Amino acid sequence: MEDLMESEIATALISAVIAGVVGLLIGKLKSSKEKRGRSPIWLSAVLFVVVLIGMLYVGAQPDETDYMDGGNKQVAATTMSTPYVRAEGEMVVHYINVGQGASQLLVGPTGKTMLVDAGNNDKEDMMVAYLQRAGIEKIDILVGTHPDADHIGGLDAVINQFDVGQFYMPQVQSNTKTFEDVLLAAKKKGIKVNTAKAEVTLKWDQGTTVQMVAPIGDYKDTNEMSAVIRVAYGETSFLLTGDAETKSEADLVTSSTMLKADVLLIGHHGSNSSTSDPFLERVNPRYAVIQSGKNKYGHPTPEILAKLANKNITLFRNDMVGNIVFVSNGKTLDVKLDPWEYAKGRTK
Ligand SMILES: [Zn+2]
Repeated sequence: MEDLMESEIATALISAVIAGVVGLLIGKLKSSKEKRGRSPIWLSAVLFVVVLIGMLYVGAQPDETDYMDGGNKQVAATTMSTPYVRAEGEMVVHYINVGQGASQLLVGPTGKTMLVDAGNNDKEDMMVAYLQRAGIEKIDILVGTHPDADHIGGLDAVINQFDVGQFYMPQVQSNTKTFEDVLLAAKKKGIKVNTAKAEVTLKWDQGTTVQMVAPIGDYKDTNEMSAVIRVAYGETSFLLTGDAETKSEADLVTSSTMLKADVLLIGHHGSNSSTSDPFLERVNPRYAVIQSGKNKYGHPTPEILAKLANKNITLFRNDMVGNIVFVSNGKTLDVKLDPWEYAKGRTK
């Protein structure tokens, strides 16, 4: 980001110097013709300043780079018009814009895939289109964090359309049609439902560590039963939180589980019922992502936004920038914004 700014300023300076020299030459020609010596220096100085200001102004305009301000500090992120093509050795984490709901697609360093949640029922076509557009054929690990419709609504369509390796959901029942649809889709395809809970280690892609860290206890509230997953690749890490709330967070904080992550998916769409101070301190993220859309709950709440701003955590919100794509090479992170939206029948 800093390199980018420096190169823009350098371009502006060089252009302005050239303009100044051109101005000087024009002035010299003019003055030799008109035999007047005063205007050249004056003219080139004005040209220099005008061009410098102009170039700096142009340089400051978003070009390929948007300056995000999700209520927090500004940060540069590239906006893409085509899906990101993963280079070998890169892990890509997509926070898919499913409106009020959640879905994260991970593609590992050798191309293994993981999908955590799949948005609400009305996002089924969009989910399938997004995955097809990303070139996904098989979901190696599929997770439904908890039975709420805004997380598992699109899972049945994903199960129907794609090959699925292992499938995980927490041990919690629901009598909704959405939940039954998911179980039925899995059953039809002969896919076993494994229990998502703390201390389950998922064997995924080369160089990665995937650990389910919650649910630790047995909670009455389905949100608290959310599968929470920590994914590490090299020196970079991500924590995916579902709708886990303060009870689950408190148990995580008192556990010895590794929670530190560079990127924290803010729990429960930025509700006050999640992201307690001790939890945020333990995770200690540099970046936060909030997956929310139009909703009647006031997500994300001003309290959570203020909390992130106070800790100087860079925030990305699906409701403000569309799909958010983090790229890790195992050492550093890059953020890309993908404003792609689904239109009926669209797969590209
Ligand atoms: Zn939710």
